[in-house]
Amino acid sequence: MPQVHLCEVGPRDGLQNAKQLMPTEAKKAWIAALAAAGLKEIEVGSFVPPKLIPAMADTEEIVKYALGIRGLKVVALAPNLKGFQRAIAAGAHKVTFPVSASRAHSQSNVRMTPEQMVDEVRKCAAWPHPGVEIEGAVSTAFGCTLQGEVPEDDVVRIATELAGFCDGVALADTVGYANPAQVKRIFSRVKKEIGEKLEGAHFHDTRGLGLANALAAYEVGVRAFDSSMAGLGGCPYAPGASGNVITEDLVFMFESMGVSTGIDIEKLLLAREILVKAIPGEPVYGHTPVAGLPKGFRAAA
Ligand SMILES: [Zn+2]
Repeated sequence: MPQVHLCEVGPRDGLQNAKQLMPTEAKKAWIAALAAAGLKEIEVGSFVPPKLIPAMADTEEIVKYALGIRGLKVVALAPNLKGFQRAIAAGAHKVTFPVSASRAHSQSNVRMTPEQMVDEVRKCAAWPHPGVEIEGAVSTAFGCTLQGEVPEDDVVRIATELAGFCDGVALADTVGYANPAQVKRIFSRVKKEIGEKLEGAHFHDTRGLGLANALAAYEVGVRAFDSSMAGLGGCPYAPGASGNVITEDLVFMFESMGVSTGIDIEKLLLAREILVKAIPGEPVYGHTPVAGLPKGFRAAA
């Protein structure tokens, strides 16, 4: 049976953009419920200065808690060597680095050029990190709200450089600019260069194309996807569904196609209840949670 692997990024991508802070104990309960629903990989936080993103101030504690959940791969984001060292000390299984293909976004996000950021990740890869997986995530790979168009050649070059010293490379549509034709084209170009090192796809649903883009990536061989419960994430000032592709709907799409996600949708909806209670008033999205499962629905497995 065909399978895909999902990484839930809500506790990081989602909560960093939420208007409210989720209490640490609620985060733990939410993460436990996500894992109980069958998610085997969760990006639980980021090692950035707490002053910059207060919602991520408890990442150390959250990583340590998540390490106690059997079978869960615990992922954290780090923007530099200092963040990487904190992630290693906390015990994260995998660390993901955002490397913007857009020069403008790179400066505003990490205050480095893309070349400097590639060097920073290279430095991290050379730092002792026994047992810790390193992922280079090429962000703004499909366009950028600051710069506009991002040349595909830049995306291919950065992904290829990262593949030289990272365990895996992901392509991220940080601002929801991608379309399915572009997704197929760019993933295929990068795959030609780096083969199996190309792992994940990270889409935002800002213009409603999150699922279409995920399906397009699946059709060119991508089997690992980031998504966020209730579609949290993205820019809080953009009207409408501006967050990540919605986990609940992504799971429904794949399962109804006969592609196994290993995730139990009913249990996933229980985890959603915990999330909704923990940040009341926060806009939440998702078609399947509202409409319910179709009569006679059968999961893939
Ligand atoms: Zn994102």
